[in-house]
Amino acid sequence: MKSRKTAARLGILFIGAVVVPAGILAMLAVRAIDREEAYVEKQLQQTLSAELVHVASLIGAELDKIREELDRGAPSPAGGDPGSILEAWKNGGPLVRTPFLLNPDFEILWPRLTTAASPDQVEFLKSNQEFIANKAETPVYANIALTFQEQIADLVQPKFDDELKKTEASSRPLETESSLQRQKAIKEFEENPEVQEWVYQQAKARGQQSEKRNVAPSTNVLPQKQASRRESIYISELKRFNDIIAGTSSGIIPRFSGDKLTFLFWKKAGDGRIVGGLIDQTAFRNRLLGLLPDLYSPVRILTILDENGRPLAVPDESGERDWRRPFVSQEISEILPRWEAAAYLTDPGAIASRANLTALILWILVVMLVLSILTGGLFVLKTVRYEIDLAKKKTTFVTNVSHELKTPLTSIRMFAEMLRQGRPPDAGKRAQYLDLMVSETERLTRLINNVLDFSRRGRDEKTYAMKAVDLNRLAEDLVKDQRPRLEHNGFAVGFRSAASPLIVKADEDALKQSILNLLSNAEKYSDRIKEIDIEIAGAGGQAILRVKDRGIGVPPSQADKIFEEFYRADDSLTARTRGTGLGLSIARRIVRDHGGEVGYRPREGGGSIFEIILPQGGSS
Ligand code: ADP
Repeated sequence: MKSRKTAARLGILFIGAVVVPAGILAMLAVRAIDREEAYVEKQLQQTLSAELVHVASLIGAELDKIREELDRGAPSPAGGDPGSILEAWKNGGPLVRTPFLLNPDFEILWPRLTTAASPDQVEFLKSNQEFIANKAETPVYANIALTFQEQIADLVQPKFDDELKKTEASSRPLETESSLQRQKAIKEFEENPEVQEWVYQQAKARGQQSEKRNVAPSTNVLPQKQASRRESIYISELKRFNDIIAGTSSGIIPRFSGDKLTFLFWKKAGDGRIVGGLIDQTAFRNRLLGLLPDLYSPVRILTILDENGRPLAVPDESGERDWRRPFVSQEISEILPRWEAAAYLTDPGAIASRANLTALILWILVVMLVLSILTGGLFVLKTVRYEIDLAKKKTTFVTNVSHELKTPLTSIRMFAEMLRQGRPPDAGKRAQYLDLMVSETERLTRLINNVLDFSRRGRDEKTYAMKAVDLNRLAEDLVKDQRPRLEHNGFAVGFRSAASPLIVKADEDALKQSILNLLSNAEKYSDRIKEIDIEIAGAGGQAILRVKDRGIGVPPSQADKIFEEFYRADDSLTARTRGTGLGLSIARRIVRDHGGEVGYRPREGGGSIFEIILPQGGSS
């Protein structure tokens, strides 16, 4: 009952201290494993995004450079024939394809739609005539975050002020302050979906157009929102030419002609006239392409997508892929509406397989961890159980030993008292009492030796005083000493010695202790038929001593276990009989130390036979 309670308590302890924490640990680890792919993807995304931002800024700078170059090169055809001056400008570099000239009130001076007009000029006029003559509007693009930077600043005011304060106000030139404001607005817009939504609504309310980007993120793992904004950051507003050029001296205007994007350069000449030109697509695209770093790397493919989502150039290694579904992309400039700098994974399966590998390793680690926690826990539990059992056995052992010691002591004392009082008067009885006292003393010695042996166990080896001993004589002496007590207790004791002396090399006391243990068991575990036979025999170089009884015998299933320390067979007589569970284990150890063996077999007709087998002449 008590041990069941202990087992239950240990079970609860095991679950609470080992199973539950191991389970929680495993769950956390598994959740982390699940996120591995997203984590790897996010990391790659950040790296590639940074590369694209860099590419976009390179292109932005190049666009400025192109404008400056055209600005510097543009002629001021005040006097001579505009046709030849403009033609010379066109031929002076690859960038100008179709030059034009307007007078200050947007009257087209060149090119003229005459029979001499080239196909380029006809085409140019067809698409741009209305616009450059200031008769039609064209969409003008602007970064929404910059357009609404003040509103964004108002929206997130406290945070904004805080960050601005971080830079020393006095040491900050005005220019830096406004560029700082711009950067903050863009950052805030990019990072905050609520700000984005609000700003797009504001733009719509003002009649400004925003369009869907023509790329869609190709992520499988990350939520769409994190992956990329779907709406363009560039909003457009319709404006006439004169509004566009007001307040500036030159610029590039992107214009859609059908679904094709063209670029118009313009510059205010000194006399108020406006000179400009349609930029040559091929030259323009080549200039931008020249800026790109290596398009191909083992990790990613990089390119620029034009207004129709078509790459400007593709590396040979890129294979078949959907160019509108980049891994990450970045809009470039208000001068290049719908264009994107885009990056693709060279091997789209790489993230998954990298994540899978990491996940596999993590899984193995988790399983190993959980297994080692569980086996470790089980081992500790087993040890604790064993120790508790042992402690219990030791307690019972002490009780039993005390009791076993008391029995012979009581007898000795009783016989000694009787002898002192002169009872009984006849010499024969007195001698018998003395014999009984010797026998009980022997029993006492045996018990004490057993206990001493046990307590010595594990600390040092038992040392034996080996000498040649005749097993016949040793057994005979022992039976002589024990007989009076056994017979007194109602036993019939038979003794049969071998025909000739059987010499064994032994420690006499230790060997006696083993035999006494067997004898004492024969006595203890005999029920109604009280018969004990001791036999000595020699065979095949072996000396054999048998103790036979007609007692209760040992159940076959327990025949091996009875030699274990503290083991006591489980039947009613054993339960009634006091015992330490040490006798047989000590007997076997002693005999084995002598190079022999102790065995048990059931006796025909009921009872037990315990057998000590020793090598004759002593072990080497
Ligand atoms: P103890 O006798 O103190 O219990 P032992 O180690 O001497 O310890 O014996 C172990 C167990 O073997 C006993 O508890 C008993 O069940 C069984 N046993 C030993 N000797 C005999 C025997 N002669 N007859 C029946 N059972 C025996």
